[in-house]
Amino acid sequence: MPEQYIQVAIPVPMRQLFTYQVPEPLSHPSIKVGERVAVPFGSRKVIGIVIDAQAPCNFERSKIKSIAGRLNDNFNLSQSLVSFLQLCAHYYHHPVGDVFQQALPILLRKIENITLSPPMVWQAQSPTEDSADMLAKLATKAAKQYALYQIINSRNGISWVELRTLGYSKAQLNALHSKALISEEEQIVSQFTWQEHTLNEADKLVLSSEQAIIVSAINNALSSFSCHLIDGVTGSGKTEVYLQAMEEVLANNKQVLVIVPEIGLTPQTLSRFEQRFNVPIALHHSGLNDKERLATWLSAQQGSAAIVIGTRSAIFTPLHHLGLIIIDEEHDSSLKQQDSFRYHGRDMAILRARQLNIPIVLGSATPSFESLQNALSGKYSYHQLHNRAGKSIKAKIALIDMNQQQVEFGLSGTLKHEIKQTLARGEQVLLFLNRRGYAPAINCQECHWLAQCQRCDKSYTLHQKQQLLICHHCGSQRRIPPQCPHCGSVRIAPLGQGTEQLESRLEDLFPESSIVRIDRDSTRKKGELAKLLQEVTDKKHQLLVGTQMLAKGHHFPDVTLVAVLDVDGALFSFDFRASEQMAQLLIQVAGRAGRASKPGRVLVQSNYVDHPLLQDLVHNGYHHFAHQALSERKQARLPPFTFQALLRADANYPSYPEKFLRALTQHPIENCEFAGPVPAAMEKKAGKFRYHLIIQAKSRKALHHGILQLLAQIPNNEWQGKIRWSLDIDPIDLNW
Ligand code: ADP
Ligand code: ZN
Ligand code: ZN
Repeated sequence: MPEQYIQVAIPVPMRQLFTYQVPEPLSHPSIKVGERVAVPFGSRKVIGIVIDAQAPCNFERSKIKSIAGRLNDNFNLSQSLVSFLQLCAHYYHHPVGDVFQQALPILLRKIENITLSPPMVWQAQSPTEDSADMLAKLATKAAKQYALYQIINSRNGISWVELRTLGYSKAQLNALHSKALISEEEQIVSQFTWQEHTLNEADKLVLSSEQAIIVSAINNALSSFSCHLIDGVTGSGKTEVYLQAMEEVLANNKQVLVIVPEIGLTPQTLSRFEQRFNVPIALHHSGLNDKERLATWLSAQQGSAAIVIGTRSAIFTPLHHLGLIIIDEEHDSSLKQQDSFRYHGRDMAILRARQLNIPIVLGSATPSFESLQNALSGKYSYHQLHNRAGKSIKAKIALIDMNQQQVEFGLSGTLKHEIKQTLARGEQVLLFLNRRGYAPAINCQECHWLAQCQRCDKSYTLHQKQQLLICHHCGSQRRIPPQCPHCGSVRIAPLGQGTEQLESRLEDLFPESSIVRIDRDSTRKKGELAKLLQEVTDKKHQLLVGTQMLAKGHHFPDVTLVAVLDVDGALFSFDFRASEQMAQLLIQVAGRAGRASKPGRVLVQSNYVDHPLLQDLVHNGYHHFAHQALSERKQARLPPFTFQALLRADANYPSYPEKFLRALTQHPIENCEFAGPVPAAMEKKAGKFRYHLIIQAKSRKALHHGILQLLAQIPNNEWQGKIRWSLDIDPIDLNW
């Protein structure tokens, strides 16, 4: 028997695979690609994934270690997932072991044996006379419990994870359980057999002709790769198109993967999927614990889940029979992971669809310039939805010139008046301020001393309720000094306004109205966000104050006035993407206004109302603005017309990162240009000094080869150990 060698990916920051020997007692049954094995690495034992089961041995045999064991569980990776993850590592020039590490559920990275309890689902009990009475009572007295019952009753078994994500509580569930209206059963796991009663026809809508054309374009191309961009304003019926395109795929017993920016934030979208399809749905998002994540992974791999809905990393779920991928809000920057393995969920989804030869659908009211350009150039099928579905009318955007106004607490006279009128009509108002905390700075009114984080050289944000100064860049905290450390004066005051302050000012200005603040601070507690959103829908609050968290996909039918308090920051950024992001945000926020039958209004406060970007966006809309901006990008040879990578470096000494990057630019790279090194927008963060180097090329291929050349120079560099560096392919945030 010849000796067997395998190549495995190990979770270490090295861009290579490692060779191990398989000792004879462990070689039956034979090891397969995707299997998880325990291997010695240094003094540790780690989990490795087999990438090549029949590797040649290119080293001195005596130096090669043997694997320590095989896991022999249900959790091996499919060949297809292994190849996909290798493609990802290749695309991003990221250490392959780390890609596997980040793509797998945490429990699969551990050597201990994993035991998962069998999946459980809730079901409605068959109706009796008693239960009919009880339900009638619930309908009037406990609307939420009644709604919970309805959703359980409409489904053929639904998990606690799904119910929780939809915003229901254990207490509500227990209440129904104790009334014997529902019961918990072990889920009958059947593989790939959901076609029989897939659809709840009840709320299926008759498509408009624009919608119908898109659905058939997707359904006519199910057996090969194609990428579809659905470009339609908020409320134009994109979700309905996704739902109807999915029908055919599910009817063919194939699975669908749906990626959304943040599910916890948009339970309404999830509930539409839940209500439409009577098939097992698995969820993947940050609100799951490790076992729940693994359960999703397993149900997708084994084929018991028909639909997987998740946030960006759901793209790494092993779907055995995937037939369609949908990326909702494809422009959303949360699709890009901004640390360590910096991948873009949308781009990797496209790669996966290509690998599997299936269609992918991207949807947005404000497509990213990348996708828009690919659609305009014919690389993607381009579908536009021009009108809002149903009755709602598009909201009008108007600018308020702050230079011409009496301003109190950041609110112009005009805005205050409009808020009053809207509240008087019994409608809701959303005020949008992208700055959490009480004030973005505090200073001394005598000597102008500014409280600054020493580690970042940026001002501390005042959090009044907690009585703390917090650095939003590195998280460090300190108490509010009783007097100025510089001149001793006690006249220390907040500077500028954040959401916390706005909330308390509004309480004074509109004492009759209930105000709710929705930002990262007010929603830290688990379940809090769902609770607040529900209270808004139930009209417990009339005034909503929030950060960009509020801009995403929520459906508030009674919000008819949306105001953006301060857009000016985005108008003067050095990052060429800032204006794209500002425009997307404005249009998305505006999309919150007047979604139901009442017309909506959007007011935008600015000190620079004549700024051409604002003027263009407000008068000509997103598409005009985007076309204009795209032609400027073309002239300036910027993405999406060129391809970029960003090499970031940081160190404890100010001069190191720059010298390190400059040394790299001394060796020209074929078909690539360097820009920089330049100091990062935040030159100092958490005590480190930071520099950027951009590598740019005319084609993706040239960039890829250029990066390989660049990386080859780094390992033996004299800076080893003195600086940290990281590579970001297709960077979208130059501010970092
Ligand atoms: P989007 O995803 O683009 O925001 P949705 O699919 O959520 O749009 O549709 C917005 C609203 O219009 C929803 O209330 C939906 O029920 C309704 N709607 C969508 N398509 C139709 C249609 N063909 N006929 C009637 N109403 C529709
Ligand atoms: Zn002072
Ligand atoms: Zn700091």
